[in-house]
Amino acid sequence: MSVRVVARIRPLLKAEIERDVIVDAARAPGEAEDKTSVVRIPNPKNDSEAFSFQFNSVYGQEATQAQLFDNEVSPTVKHLFKGYDATLFAYGVTGTGKTHTMRGGKSLAERGVIPRLLSSIYRKARKLEKDSADATQVEVSMSYQEIYNDRVFDLFEPPEKRTPAGLPIRDVGNGKTQVVGLTERPCSSLKDFEQLYDQANVNRSTSATKLNAHSSRSHAILCVKITQTTGDEVRVSTASAIDLAGPEDNRRTDNKNERMVESASINKSLFVLAQCVEAISRKQARIPYRESKMTRILSLGQNNGFTVMILNLAPVRSYHLDTLSSLNFANRTKKIEVKEVENLPFYREAPGKGKIDGEKHNSLNAPAVHRQP
Ligand code: ADP
Ligand code: MG
Repeated sequence: MSVRVVARIRPLLKAEIERDVIVDAARAPGEAEDKTSVVRIPNPKNDSEAFSFQFNSVYGQEATQAQLFDNEVSPTVKHLFKGYDATLFAYGVTGTGKTHTMRGGKSLAERGVIPRLLSSIYRKARKLEKDSADATQVEVSMSYQEIYNDRVFDLFEPPEKRTPAGLPIRDVGNGKTQVVGLTERPCSSLKDFEQLYDQANVNRSTSATKLNAHSSRSHAILCVKITQTTGDEVRVSTASAIDLAGPEDNRRTDNKNERMVESASINKSLFVLAQCVEAISRKQARIPYRESKMTRILSLGQNNGFTVMILNLAPVRSYHLDTLSSLNFANRTKKIEVKEVENLPFYREAPGKGKIDGEKHNSLNAPAVHRQP
């Protein structure tokens, strides 16, 4: 039970050539033959030197969607049904495979972690309902929002119905927040889910087109709520999957005015994300999650459960500096430690009656930073 930071190096695209590959996955000393946990990249100032960054695991160009899901995300499903929350991030510059990792392609083999997660949740729910002696019922619902330019929009709303100011966020206690007016849709099967998810993703891309922006300039936050009911006992847990906006380097792009403002808000929220995970990892009492809407919506560090950060990387030289800055960003997050506290069941009839002290687990899973010149 721990927080994991994993890197994934995407394969070459059609226009890219083998000769330009500079990033690869490598084994750490003593590591099993079928595992890699190091990313190697040359020093931009001296090609004969390499930097190494170690993560919980590193997936090379040939890694499949199924491997990534089975190793990194599938284990969270049983925890979800025990009442823990799960949060999955995809971080990386535009073009490195965040959307591919999260959403993926149409074919079964190319499906990303989100549809696979849902498929797994429904399978587990059906099994629970069938096998449980005490007639457990499982309900699944979803909300899907995007944060663009520091404003929150409901992706179930068609873009023309959006209020330009976005939806307000309200505190609801325990460090948790609620986005006021956000739609929550029940989805009782994978088919239901896919229909809603596809429609919302169309809204995401049309709104981006309308605003003359690219959808990679928004954070897309999918929240899947699982409600298990056994008699009077209700247990709720949430799986969140975030396709983050890419970090922007204004020194190297020709962002002007409005674009600068957007860029600043993207970078600020990613900076706060990094600060939050760093604060959590250092067990600091103050986690600055309130300083950006994204971290606030996720109640980062206030929430219980499991976090998996997937760092998406391109293998080629044209991304050299971006890849290095992504690796440095993720380096901070590796020491993350999250309080894992079960979501306690509550009782419908007698609120308050079911207040039991939850078991508190703490764990640290931080591989050493390992850089060699
Ligand atoms: P991002 O969301 O980070 O901007 P995308 O997910 O859109 O990046 O990926 C950029 C391109 O690379 C897309 O054409 C995508 O299909 C392709 N791609 C990314 N990762 C993989 C992968 N693991 N296997 C095959 N194609 C990939
Ligand atoms: Mg994308």
